[in-house]
Amino acid sequence: MEFRYLGNSGLKISEITYGNWLTHGSQVENDVATECVHAALDAGITTFDTADAYANTKAEAVLGDALKGQRRQSLEIFTKVYWPTGPAGPNDVGLSRKHILGSIDGSLSRLQTDYVDLYQAHRYDTETPLEETMQAFADVVRAGKALYIGVSEWTADQIRAGHSLAKDLGIQLISSQPQYSLLWRVIEPEVVPTCKELGIGQIVWSPIAQGVLSGKYQPGQPPPQGSRATDDKGGADMIRRFMNDTVLSRVQALKPIADELNLTMAQLAVAWVLQNDNVSAALVGASRPAQVHENVKAAGVRIPDEAMKRIDEALGDVVERDPAKTAENAPQTRPV
Ligand code: NDP
Repeated sequence: MEFRYLGNSGLKISEITYGNWLTHGSQVENDVATECVHAALDAGITTFDTADAYANTKAEAVLGDALKGQRRQSLEIFTKVYWPTGPAGPNDVGLSRKHILGSIDGSLSRLQTDYVDLYQAHRYDTETPLEETMQAFADVVRAGKALYIGVSEWTADQIRAGHSLAKDLGIQLISSQPQYSLLWRVIEPEVVPTCKELGIGQIVWSPIAQGVLSGKYQPGQPPPQGSRATDDKGGADMIRRFMNDTVLSRVQALKPIADELNLTMAQLAVAWVLQNDNVSAALVGASRPAQVHENVKAAGVRIPDEAMKRIDEALGDVVERDPAKTAENAPQTRPV
């Protein structure tokens, strides 16, 4: 495993980080979830990402159990707050002081830890003054419940405003967690340059486009049984954007490039996001340990410039680059 600093902080994280959205507490049985976490640890992954809302709090609990007995100082555990977890009252959502200060305690208890290394705003809350949110985060940090603060799917302007307030409060906002992959590059024009200027690192989600970039979904064919595209607990809905024959055919054109580099397609996809020097980690998911074993081999891989060009030619116009799509993943009002 290779390690990178998270933004300009002193915190090192494994450049391949393990996340449990849609899997733990949902698609994947608990014993397989534990095997995946142990496969990640065996491969040298030290950084784990979850959220209170994943599987409506169950994902945090499964991860907490799977990490039991590990040396806490040797792990970096990240979680998030924003989305509602049920049963929900009017304040069980968003980034108000009340929701943040209540949610962190629930997360720590489920994760069986005294602190998280990174506490992330899972989305921007248009209904809470940013000053209130940042003050609440500062209080979480000062209480020793989180070491650093991060955000997820915030626009460049929102990141700049949050970073400025955090600095005034003497806390470190060091990370942004956006979607980023060969197929989804909307952070490149605005979020990445702003974050480079401010010393913020990207922890990028769905680098394999939820499995699509592994090449296992063939155009014109039904999805393989047991894959996310067949997961009726939520996965099938989430992956739908990429499940059309135009995208799937273009993705197949990456196979010869991966072969020449002696990489699997999933490894190529993970290695590709890591070529961006503002990326601190590729945040991968797995429904079985073999995927973890395969994907970690992308650590430390350098893709030659000529192959980077051929990748772009192969994908052509199925790549989404519009920076306005950053906000597309963020609700304009709080969800209920
Ligand atoms: P990936 O793009 O890594 O997709 C992971 C899924 O792809 C696996 O569960 C598996 O699904 C399939 N897969 C992985 N490796 C392989 C392989 N080698 N061969 C074939 N199939 C493979 O990322 P995720 O979409 O899972 O997201 C990763 C993490 O990012 C999450 O766990 C979460 O921590 C974070 N995230 C954050 C969000 C945010 O808003 N901040 C939003 C979404 C994710 P299967 O076997 O079922 O087909």
